[in-house]
Amino acid sequence: ALSIGIVGLPNVGKSTLFNALTKTASAQAANFPFCTIEPNVGDVAVPDARLAKLAEVAGSKQAVPARIQFVDIAGLVKGASKGEGLGNQFLANIREVDAIAHVLRCFEDGDVTHVEGRVDPVADAETIETELMIADLEGIERRAANLVRKLKGGDKEAKLQQALLERAKAALEEGRPARTVEVSQDEAKAWRGLQLLTTKPVLYVCNVAEDEAGTGNAHSAAVERMAEAQGAGSVVISARIEEEIAQLPEEEQADFLETLGLEEPGLDRLIRAGYDLLGLETYFTAGPKEARAWTIPRGTTAPRAAGVIHGDFEAKFIRAETVAYDDYVTLGGEAPARDAGRLRAEGKGYVVKDGDVMNFLHGA
Ligand code: GDP
Repeated sequence: ALSIGIVGLPNVGKSTLFNALTKTASAQAANFPFCTIEPNVGDVAVPDARLAKLAEVAGSKQAVPARIQFVDIAGLVKGASKGEGLGNQFLANIREVDAIAHVLRCFEDGDVTHVEGRVDPVADAETIETELMIADLEGIERRAANLVRKLKGGDKEAKLQQALLERAKAALEEGRPARTVEVSQDEAKAWRGLQLLTTKPVLYVCNVAEDEAGTGNAHSAAVERMAEAQGAGSVVISARIEEEIAQLPEEEQADFLETLGLEEPGLDRLIRAGYDLLGLETYFTAGPKEARAWTIPRGTTAPRAAGVIHGDFEAKFIRAETVAYDDYVTLGGEAPARDAGRLRAEGKGYVVKDGDVMNFLHGA
């Protein structure tokens, strides 16, 4: 499963948020060895209102949501790249995740110590980003040193890597994260292979006070402006409130949300934003046994999408039948959609669209 690492300075609300994510009924918390320390890993359902509707129309016994992993990467502090705190181990953990949810303290509370003695989320974001940039620069030095011998041998791949390292280094030395470097399609694979920390997509999570969950505040507004300028995402939540919501029985959650003037738990927005950030989409399968959401990267072709269910379905793909979600629901299921001419047969080149209800025909 794709994973999102939760990072941030100490005392900003990471654990509170992670607890909320993993305490909801649909989540399962798991602890397992991960490098040498053990960050918490939570496997979380991706909320999607379409799934329940689909299960209802298809008469499915159960609805199985898509899942995404959140990893609690605590302990990143100023000086982490110099090995302060548990520095290097945490940086290694960040390397493993696909995207970063960066929690920023946007709440004022005299009882909760701020490591820098003041609430300034934009400066905090820079502190962490700087650590990641320094770590990247050091990683680049190491990689460049390893390339020397290969370059002497005239290795083409090494030459490409060297050129990319140079470009990343130039950006970092100007104080820009590596994600600002433009990379062509031909270079994309080698670029990913460099495993730079500052190429990972970032979602800023503004942790505001309980009574600001619906509105945000001046701090979160400043973060939103920063995020926009960087092409990053941002969401406003109150980790404390989310923890409370997560602990309530489901039938009481709606009432509680209404009292707070919230339409849905902030976690749902956070999870969806993470899903978007990773460039992911959903297609569905629906039958009497289950309706199920499957995760694919945007732009995935039908055979690859089939391969998410089972590798053999990709290898022995014949064709796909598909009904758009809206048609499926409005017309009342697969058979009526077929009768109405809304069920399409698609071949190997078909790019699956978000919300497609799929049937795969295969020789497996
Ligand atoms: P971490 O070090 O980033 O994991 O932070 P924690 O989740 O342990 O939170 C640090 C402290 O801040 C705890 O005492 C939390 O209860 C408190 N805290 C977290 N979120 C909020 C919030 O939205 N409002 C207030 N007032 N306190 C919060």
